[in-house]
Amino acid sequence: MNSRRNFLKAMGIMLGSTAGFSAFQYMSLADYSAKTPDDAGLQLNFEPYELQLRHVFTLASGSRSTTPVMLTTISYNGITGYGEASMPPYLGESHASATEFLSKVNLSLFSSPFLIEDILNYIDHLAPGNYAAKASVDIALHDLVGKLMKQPWHRIWGLNPDHAPNTSFTIGIDKPDVVVEKTKEAFAYGILKIKLGRGNDREMIRAVRSVTSVPLGVDVNQGWNNRDEAIEMIEWLDKQGVIYVEQPMNKTLPEDIAWITSRSPVPIIADEAVQVPSDVSKLAGIYSGINIKLMKCGGMRAAFTMVNMARALNLKVMIGCMTETSCAVTAAAQLSPMADWADLDGNLLINNDPYDGIKIRDGKVIIPERPGIGIEKL
Ligand code: MG
Repeated sequence: MNSRRNFLKAMGIMLGSTAGFSAFQYMSLADYSAKTPDDAGLQLNFEPYELQLRHVFTLASGSRSTTPVMLTTISYNGITGYGEASMPPYLGESHASATEFLSKVNLSLFSSPFLIEDILNYIDHLAPGNYAAKASVDIALHDLVGKLMKQPWHRIWGLNPDHAPNTSFTIGIDKPDVVVEKTKEAFAYGILKIKLGRGNDREMIRAVRSVTSVPLGVDVNQGWNNRDEAIEMIEWLDKQGVIYVEQPMNKTLPEDIAWITSRSPVPIIADEAVQVPSDVSKLAGIYSGINIKLMKCGGMRAAFTMVNMARALNLKVMIGCMTETSCAVTAAAQLSPMADWADLDGNLLINNDPYDGIKIRDGKVIIPERPGIGIEKL
């Protein structure tokens, strides 16, 4: 009993100091069932891992050739769920921050993995931020629960895997000859997503167009500074077969972005401007749609909420990813039948993927018919 009493005391202290208290109010602390130490309860493990990128990856904010990730597992009665935190440096998380966060997690406090809502509320209130680390627990928990139910998550959610959309392959900013080579490597894709915003936009698009006629998406990563120049460029891009433009200007300039969206011939998608479910309603009337990523919002449960909010607000939906292993990408793919576009190529940008999962056939997302998130360890 002592450990339970201490836990409830600790929770009281934590709740008292947490801004998100209201989200917790409906749940009685007595609902947490303490386990005795000898029970084979829920157990979280985590291991740092470094993704090796196939190409140096350049976007408007900088270049890099590796991405730190944390690979997690949650075990319960001999079954293991897999999760992952991908932490590109510009988002502020790291092996050190994820280790610190995940070391605080004590899943033996919960009697059953099916208490997803309780467990993820507990995770969310352990510390602010840490969305990738939180996603690594969320994904592993969903994988475990799906395996216990012997069903993949798209089926648990009632989604038709045949409705999974085409996915784009991303071409980073580079010199024209390199862009041509990268574009040739991406011949299997029905859509290419071209990174722009470093001053060589027309050169980038012309290089891509010299070798392919597939539809293009464009991601500016907040790289444009002037709305008049932005709309002029978007009108030119529309004539080059561009079907959407992502985050044309800085997220702190909603009036300029709304001005662009109201004039643009193609949808304007929010990425940097949207992170968690509470952001979604603020973006209606400013953007045409949102790019949802598990690492931004904290996992599959929040992402599912965001898709439904976007739909209710008549916003288009893209399911995106970071450079990640097949673990997080396949978890995101479970939601993709609800999306207008998928941008699920993160596993294809790396050399050392430890999992088998999502496949791309004729440019379309193929969700594996395996329980949970749908991956196997290689
Ligand atoms: Mg983006």
